[in-house]
Amino acid sequence: MSATILVVEDEPAIQALIEVNLRRAGHVVQLAADAETARRLVQEALPDLVLLDWMLPGMSGVDFARLLRSQARTRSLPIIMLTARAGERDKIEGLELGADDYVTKPFSPRELVARIKAVLRRHAPQATEDAVELGSLRLDPATHRVTAGSEEINLGPTEFRLLHFLMTHPERVHARSQLLDQVWGDHVFVEERTVDVHIRRLRAALEPSGHDALIQTVRGSGYRISAA
Ligand code: CA
Repeated sequence: MSATILVVEDEPAIQALIEVNLRRAGHVVQLAADAETARRLVQEALPDLVLLDWMLPGMSGVDFARLLRSQARTRSLPIIMLTARAGERDKIEGLELGADDYVTKPFSPRELVARIKAVLRRHAPQATEDAVELGSLRLDPATHRVTAGSEEINLGPTEFRLLHFLMTHPERVHARSQLLDQVWGDHVFVEERTVDVHIRRLRAALEPSGHDALIQTVRGSGYRISAA
């Protein structure tokens, strides 16, 4: 499983411990020692998950989580809070602001990696290696293969990521800007019509098996994958 995880933690030793363990688990790690830096990184590109320390210099982790939840672009970004206190009040406050899970310091790296995996499964399935199916179309991130029944479909890397994201979020309409965030990551230098180009390529690759009809254009809104 390879997800991009933004670690917001001001203590260098804990930051280093987390970084080495997440990298070992196959993740891409971004580091920020305060909320301001984290905010800038999130503006540039959405990570798959934020691991957020409760106590930070300047804006607290709790306030940063609130900020993320208050904005449409980051509302559903998975957040795991790191807290030094196991107090119930903290947990309740955290649950109200919508953190997806908690890890109390000191934590075992193994437990942390397992919690991250569980939250990704629930909230960011495109960042996991679980195979996904829609009708007779099957995409397996582990082997990087897409099949329609017994036929293999060859896709370019961008079309593969695009199809993976759509298949893990079926029936929902995704704006071009959302697809840029989720599939391209750093959308700063990419124009929205790039999405249309890759959707066209994806449809062309799916056409021989008849699966191109799964990808629907929603006028004025964006794209959706639907088996209906
Ligand atoms: Ca701290």
